[in-house]
Amino acid sequence: MNIMSINAGSSSLKFSLFNMDTKDVLLSGLFERIGIEGSNYTIKYNDCKIKEEALMETHSDAIKILMDKIIELGVVKSLEEINGIGHRIVHGGSIYKESVVVTDKVLDDIIALSDLAPLHNPAHAICIKAFRDVLPNTPMVVVFDTAFHQTIEKDRYLYAVPYNWYTDYQVRKYGAHGTSHRYVAEKLKEELGRDDLNIICCHLGNGGSITAIKAGKCVDTSMGFTPHAGIIMGTRSGDIDVSMVPYVMEKAGKSAGEIMNDLNKKSGFLGISGISSDSRDIEDGIKEGNERCILTQKMYVNSIVKYIAEYYLLLGHVDVIAFTAGIGENSMDTRSDVIEKLSPLGIFINPEANNVRGKFAKISDKNSKVDVYIVPTNEELMIAQDTLKLIDRM
Ligand code: AMP
Repeated sequence: MNIMSINAGSSSLKFSLFNMDTKDVLLSGLFERIGIEGSNYTIKYNDCKIKEEALMETHSDAIKILMDKIIELGVVKSLEEINGIGHRIVHGGSIYKESVVVTDKVLDDIIALSDLAPLHNPAHAICIKAFRDVLPNTPMVVVFDTAFHQTIEKDRYLYAVPYNWYTDYQVRKYGAHGTSHRYVAEKLKEELGRDDLNIICCHLGNGGSITAIKAGKCVDTSMGFTPHAGIIMGTRSGDIDVSMVPYVMEKAGKSAGEIMNDLNKKSGFLGISGISSDSRDIEDGIKEGNERCILTQKMYVNSIVKYIAEYYLLLGHVDVIAFTAGIGENSMDTRSDVIEKLSPLGIFINPEANNVRGKFAKISDKNSKVDVYIVPTNEELMIAQDTLKLIDRM
């Protein structure tokens, strides 16, 4: 069985075609700058890489190119050999608690939920429609990034704001990165052979979130109504006091949109360090003694430790703290800085074991009361696995 996993952003489209019998990736890549001058794509297959420019006004254009290339490169002989397509959907609101097969109603819901994810849900809908045009008989599944967090109880997903903000405008915590957190939880369950694990999962990438997971179910997550909330990120501020918004609007003569742009695109690592949103540049700056980079890392670690401490109490007993995504998988310094601050809880790192990048590994000391693991995430495979499971039942 071959399953295509599709992850569409507002102007990008990532794809992976899996042979689900072997879990091999037959082809993968990325379309970038869709609808923007200089649109281009990269395709990787059989250890080869193609990078080309092509005019793409919409995601449909990208999908047409992708289908042509798959045949031209001989990855499959006919498009009929693609047995299913799984789409990552950023927002499923309170409606979708798990992945589902695409129907007209599901497509309508995704479009209707665009208010909550204005950059992403419309792009997802375009992709679903485009695949219906080119592969009308191929089943499709949607995997919602918010679904994993739908098990959070009301006393943890509501905000203490006028109640009608929730009932009239759906203002509540939804969270994000759910597909990644679920992958990590399932991988740990499989590797450790236990389905009762209490996990604190730290997804530390350009975006970042921390999730408390009890026996495979999410009980809380650090992102909120939008991905803006929670820990400090590459360019997002994470949690702030909202009163600074009207204050700076007035002081700087900025509109609400401009302030949101500052908070989303100019804050976080970039805002504090003044040099970069990339953690590698921050680490280089720290080595050179750059005070603002040192401050960035301290604030970043503080924001992570704050959530781990809260979730430690929430879970009562923690079996595993997991690190995943670009920084979590690769930055030894961030992992050790975080774990060092957890020593009052009897949690300790093994510096030698921590000297590893991008591999599943236990990195805690043998005296640590909680095991600490690196678990490389694989959202694409998670999407393909859900797709296979649901189309098998059709
Ligand atoms: P992601 O959003 O998961 O792709 O993660 C992006 C972040 O991971 C960026 O801040 C990168 O600097 C960081 N990252 C990727 N590779 C490394 C590495 N080798 N060392 C430290 N950070 C890394």
